[in-house]
Amino acid sequence: MTRAGVAVTHTAPPAETPKISIVIPLYNEEESIPHLVEALDAAIANYGQPAEVIIVDDGSRDNSFKLLKEYAAGDPRFTIIRFRRNFGQTAAFAAGFAQARGEVVITMDADLQNDPMDIPLLMARVDEGYDIVSGWRKDRQDRWLDRKLPSMMANRLISNVTDVKLHDYGCSLKAYRTEVLRHVHLYGELHRFIPALASQVGATVTEVPVNHRSRQYGSSKYGISRTVRVMLDLINVWFLGTYSTRPIHVFGTLGLSSMAFGVLIGLYLSFIKIFLGESIGNRPLLLLAVLLVVIGVQLVTMGLLGEMITRTYYESQNKPIYVVREIVNDFVDEGDTV
Ligand code: UDP
Ligand code: MG
Repeated sequence: MTRAGVAVTHTAPPAETPKISIVIPLYNEEESIPHLVEALDAAIANYGQPAEVIIVDDGSRDNSFKLLKEYAAGDPRFTIIRFRRNFGQTAAFAAGFAQARGEVVITMDADLQNDPMDIPLLMARVDEGYDIVSGWRKDRQDRWLDRKLPSMMANRLISNVTDVKLHDYGCSLKAYRTEVLRHVHLYGELHRFIPALASQVGATVTEVPVNHRSRQYGSSKYGISRTVRVMLDLINVWFLGTYSTRPIHVFGTLGLSSMAFGVLIGLYLSFIKIFLGESIGNRPLLLLAVLLVVIGVQLVTMGLLGEMITRTYYESQNKPIYVVREIVNDFVDEGDTV
């Protein structure tokens, strides 16, 4: 089989369709790979259902891909996707999701900080009916100051701002019903927000405490600078979730308030000038009034531009502004829909 511009190699395909697809982004983890493969093998045997493993090599510059290819050559349960360069963990997840054939996708890290033996724990909650089950590293084995503390603060904030209440958004070990992932579009570093994004399209989310270990091999790919990016992403997710189909409401409200303040101050200054005859040319308040009105006009305009962009976004791809779960007695043919 070939795909445009992609080299594809094959062993004999596995006999059964997988129930779960384990998706693992991997970047320069050559030392972990033998242990990872061994742990996955044991965990799949322990879980007892057909599984596939999709490892996305995110442009590793060490021997990772060579090793992975060797394993996959002897085991058709393993699919390896190799990126041309480092596109980041979110892109790796997106590639893995697109490749997944199982009913449920399980994600985890390649560094074995997550324990694949926890899969039955997650699946038990999926079988109860949840669409997303998120791992909670209750006893997290990372440094406190630059890892656990920022993460603790971020978790609090995210749970306040989004509808999804979890203790640990950053844990990679999660289970997703594949059908809900089809409605989630990932950009940037938004993989941490998949539960929030999925819940915006109606997915149900829960969490279970999972095992966590310190990193044994290789080194972490992220530093403290990630905190700022997470904050910005949070604003983005909040905006997309709440206002993306009505940007005029958020920008317009801010803009009108700003204008109203500006006009009030302007009226006050006019009163002083006209009725009390005082000079107002040298008052800082005048500057503020002008500034508020100008900012207000700009914000309203930005809201209107946002409205136009929203229309282009939805209408150019015939994207509905809702997500249907199921229809009873649907008599409309595919061709009939407008
Ligand atoms: N990773 C990736 N692309 C990147 C950075 C990281 O695929 O650009 C992978 C990495 O190999 C690991 C997972 O994402 O499997 C999580 O990364 P890491 O363990 O460095 O993060 P931490 O656990 O320290 O937060
Ligand atoms: Mg890690």
